[in-house]
Formats: sequence, structure tokens, C-alpha cells
Amino acid sequence: MAKPDLMERVVNLCKRRGLVFPSSEIYGGFRSTWDYGPLGVLLKRNVKDAWWRTMVQLRDDVVGLDTAILMHPRVWEASGHVQAFTDPLVDCRNCKERFRADHLPESGACPNCGAKGSFTEARQFHLMFKTNVGPVEDEGSVAYLRPETAQGIFVNFLNVQTTTRKKPPFGIAQIGKAFRNEITPGNFIFRTREFEVMEMEYFVPPEDGAKWYEYWCQERLRWFVDLGIPEDELRLRPHDAEELSHYSAGTSDVEYLYPWGWGELEGIANRTDYDLTRHAEYSGQDLSYYDQEADRRYVPHVIEPALGADRCMLAFLLAAYHEEEVRGEKRTLLRLDPRLAPITIAVLPLSRNERLNPVANEVADLLRPRFMIDVDDAGSIGRRYRRQDEVGTPLCVTVDFDTLDDRAVTVRDRDSMTQERVAIDKLVDHVQEQLPT
Ligand code: ATP
Repeated sequence: MAKPDLMERVVNLCKRRGLVFPSSEIYGGFRSTWDYGPLGVLLKRNVKDAWWRTMVQLRDDVVGLDTAILMHPRVWEASGHVQAFTDPLVDCRNCKERFRADHLPESGACPNCGAKGSFTEARQFHLMFKTNVGPVEDEGSVAYLRPETAQGIFVNFLNVQTTTRKKPPFGIAQIGKAFRNEITPGNFIFRTREFEVMEMEYFVPPEDGAKWYEYWCQERLRWFVDLGIPEDELRLRPHDAEELSHYSAGTSDVEYLYPWGWGELEGIANRTDYDLTRHAEYSGQDLSYYDQEADRRYVPHVIEPALGADRCMLAFLLAAYHEEEVRGEKRTLLRLDPRLAPITIAVLPLSRNERLNPVANEVADLLRPRFMIDVDDAGSIGRRYRRQDEVGTPLCVTVDFDTLDDRAVTVRDRDSMTQERVAIDKLVDHVQEQLPT
């Protein structure tokens, strides 16, 4: 499918089926912000759960954290954000639109009106949202909405290290909202001003930084492939010297082939000892680690994989979207990994019928505590299968008139469309076998 069509179709599907709505839509929408509907909230939650499971649950060297969005303003001075968290901004003199100077097309033409040579000199635009805490609006009450969750982790390094008794190498993971006053949000949920990030700071002995940086680059790439993004739509792109932050000893982006070309999906950075050293300096607290075995004290170096939950959900949607022809009819389906699919199993009585409904309810009650299910009895069974395919439901369980006699149901697979007859008594085990954990 042509790539621009793909984006339009995914956006339409999200609106039509209640995954993502424009925010404040009855007021005409609000500046590239989005709301997640009943199916979207399930998908995004599954994305975050899959990340948490891989990064925290399945490892004994990473623990979780959930820190406040509002933090002491000194945090953002120490981190360098107050001074340098900016993007270069240019105005088009012709149409007055504003753009990020580093995102302009090579032709030099204005992406909005096509004018050439119409841009002003670039000036630095600050990306942090400022607010005031408490009833007095003066310089002393200024606070910022966090533009990343990482600083909440750094300022809690000592708290976490001493309470968990973890020794480097170990990591602290966090998922939470972040805010950036982006100059040009766009491409649906790819770039927004309010988004969720999933970040992990991995603290290591200084001499091991390069090794762990390599390790996390490969691990993070593998995660996307494991959850169904084709390998040829992913690549690891190391930043060149110009692009590299001054404190970074190496940064790579996991890039995805979006409909508009390659773009960042996740960033993995070797941040050295920059963050802990700066916070030690600004707070006056000693943030070094004493290694008892080696009898030495050092400031750990940090490897950070950072990924947007919304951007990542978009990549999973784009990779999963397929259209195919089945017996002369178009079938739209999301080939989402079952761990990500909003609904895992749909329970479908063959028709709306007073004899079938009690059995369908019984089957639904059996499955509900273990899986996210949907019960749908409206319309023809063919149409209901299509509706489930379209939102990526991996399995449909159909209750028909034979069920009344044989206490068995039909289990249909989304991708192959094959059907199997399974006894209700064995249904939970059967389904569990079909689904990856
Ligand atoms: P860019 O250069 O594209 O603005 P960045 O390099 O500043 O992005 P990071 O600070 O590395 O981004 O953020 C880590 C991750 O958070 C990104 O890889 C992306 O997945 C996500 N992210 C960053 N900014 C946004 C945003 N405005 N909207 C949605 N997700 C975002």
C-alpha cells in the first residue's frame, strides 16, 4: 500500500473504531492533542505493560519508580534544561508559519506556502512549559512541567539505591507523562506536546559504559522485533559528532520506517556521569557509590533507553495494518501481537437468540477474569468477524446452535481465519496455549 495512504487509513481507523480522538473535539480540537478512546486506552496500556514486563518484571537488575511531574526548579537548572532545552525556530516571512529549522526540507522551500528563501534567521525556542505553583505568580513560584521523566530518577538515585541495596550495574525504570512545547507537533500521535515516556536509567561502573550501551542498543531493537515490527522496517542509527549532546559518549536512535520516511522511535544514550555529577553539584549531596568489594568510590555512568508510548503505539499500528482480499471482499486487519491487541477474545453468539445468549454469557464469564474480552451480538457473523479483525482481536469464540447440544464452541484465528471446535470445559487451556505470554 502506498505509504501516505497507510497513514490516512490508520488515522481513520483510530477515529472510526474509538482508538484515538482529537482532544476537545466538540470545540474544534486543540492544537495537536489527542484523547485515547476505549480501545486506544487498552492498546496503549498493553504497550506500556509489555515494556514494563521486559524492562522490570523479567529482570532482577531493574526496579520501578513513579515520580512527581512538578519538581524543584533547581532540578532543571542542574540538568541543563533551563539553559539549553531549545529547538531552532524559523518563521516564513511569506505565510508567517513557524518551523523547526532542523526539520526543513532540503529544497529550502517553505513546507506550507512553497516560498523560497523566505525564512528568518533561526532563533532558539524554549521547549519547557512554565507554570506557577501556589497563588502568587512571580519568579519565586515558577515551576516547569517535566519534559522527561529521567530527572525524577536521577534525583532519587540515592533513595532507590539505599532502600533496594542494588549495586551497579542496575537500573531504575519509569513511565509517565512529559510535556514539551514543540514548535511543530504533527503526524498524528508521533509528535505531540503532551505524551508519555518510558525511560530506564541504567547505572554502571564508569569503565563499563561502552559495553552496556552496546547491550541496550541491541536489547531495545530486539524488543520491537519480538512484538511484531518487521526487521526491515527498523534500524539503529548512531548520532554523528555534530548531533551528539555535549555530555554523551554515544547515542543511537532506533528508527522506524514511517510512511513519511525513517524517523526516531527510541533514543538510547550513554550519558556518562553527567547527570549525577550535576545534581551532586547543584544539591550539595554526595551522589557517588561506594563499591565495598573493590574498596573504591565512583560516580556511576548512565545508559538511558527512552521511548514514547504514544509514538511506539503508532509504529505498532502502522506495522500491523493490512488489507487483503478474501473471497472477493476487502478485509482490513491489524496483525497486532496478541500481547498488544486491545481485545484478546471476542465472544460472538451466532445470532441474537434467547437460547444462545445464556451460553454466550457463560462463556464470557469464564474468559473475562483472565482475558480482555468483548461480547458482540449485533449484525451478521461475517461482519462481526471483520469488525474484530479490524481492531486486531486475535481470537473469536462463536457460540452456535450445536453448542446447546455438544457444549463446544468454534475458535477462529484472526490471521489464518481457520476455525477449530473446542469443548467449553477445555476453552481456557486451549486459548492460553494459543497466546504468547
Ligand atoms: P526529537 O529530536 O524528534 O524532537 P528527541 O531526540 O528530543 O526527539 P528524546 O528526548 O530522545 O527525543 O525523547 C525520547 C523519546 O520520547 C523519543 O524517542 C520519542 O519516542 C519520544 N518523544 C520525544 N518527544 C516526543 C513528542 N513530542 N511526542 C511524542 N513522543 C515524543
